[in-house]
Amino acid sequence: MKEKQLTTTIQELDFSELSASEQQLVRLARVATQSSYAPYSHFHVGAAILLENGVFIKGANQENPAFSGICGERSAFYNAGANYPGVDITAVAIAARDSNGFVTEPCSPCGLCRQAMLEFERNAKQPITVLLVGERCIYRLPSVASLLPLCFTDF
Ligand SMILES: [Zn+2]
Repeated sequence: MKEKQLTTTIQELDFSELSASEQQLVRLARVATQSSYAPYSHFHVGAAILLENGVFIKGANQENPAFSGICGERSAFYNAGANYPGVDITAVAIAARDSNGFVTEPCSPCGLCRQAMLEFERNAKQPITVLLVGERCIYRLPSVASLLPLCFTDF
């Protein structure tokens, strides 16, 4: 038997340690939570994306009673794909709040969103920096792939 280990490098930062564009992404992700429609989960997720052409795009979760809505992350990524096809995404920030305000710990995307974001990264010429926003700190990951080890691919 062989045993293997998977490792992911996560940087834990304060807001002030982020670059100017990363700070803008975090601000926009927090603003985007206001566009969330979450009458069922009451969990408001906002995502903000920076494209290589300098355009920022926001997304927010949108729910319905059949639970066939969409998460904030995919809302933003599919918006980018629909409105800026072929333009690479360089970074994404994800923030969330509930009835108590913004979440304390960094908000992490679900598996569906990880797989969807990975598709954009695989089609891009560069990794997508991922910022997971919490009130206590912000996690910065070097790529979407680092969020999804042993991912499903078409090989
Ligand atoms: Zn999701």
